[in-house]
Amino acid sequence: MSNSKKNAHLTKKQFKLLEDKVLAEIERIETKLAIDKKNHLELSANSSGKDEVDSANDDILKHTELRFQTRETLYLKKLKKTRIQMIETKEYGHCEDCGSSISFQRLQARPTSNMCIACKEESERDEFQSFHGRQSKSLGQQVNLVGRI
Ligand SMILES: [Zn+2]
Repeated sequence: MSNSKKNAHLTKKQFKLLEDKVLAEIERIETKLAIDKKNHLELSANSSGKDEVDSANDDILKHTELRFQTRETLYLKKLKKTRIQMIETKEYGHCEDCGSSISFQRLQARPTSNMCIACKEESERDEFQSFHGRQSKSLGQQVNLVGRI
């Protein structure tokens, strides 16, 4: 398989712009996580002399914080995966589902995009339908049409 034609839809300048964006995001999240960790360590150091009620509250706080951190950490993982794709493979900017190229505009809005709009919309529609399957509009219209005939 030849890699030479991959990413042909992105100019060098566009690719560089996206690369910088991903790097900036990695730096932003890493800094944020480091600050959170530092604050958290200071918080637990200060709470060592407290009674049980306070430490229960601390646990809730810790839990909320951890959930938030998990989301950030997942995003960071995705950014790093994107970064590796940018450097090591030429797969970046292509849909994981159908392999077609993802537009620069879409990548600019979301550099970690790994699906083209068509596939993304399809997967979101599937998700939506599993939640709201019973209220399908198109199905209702079809029923009306059948009723008229
Ligand atoms: Zn696709």
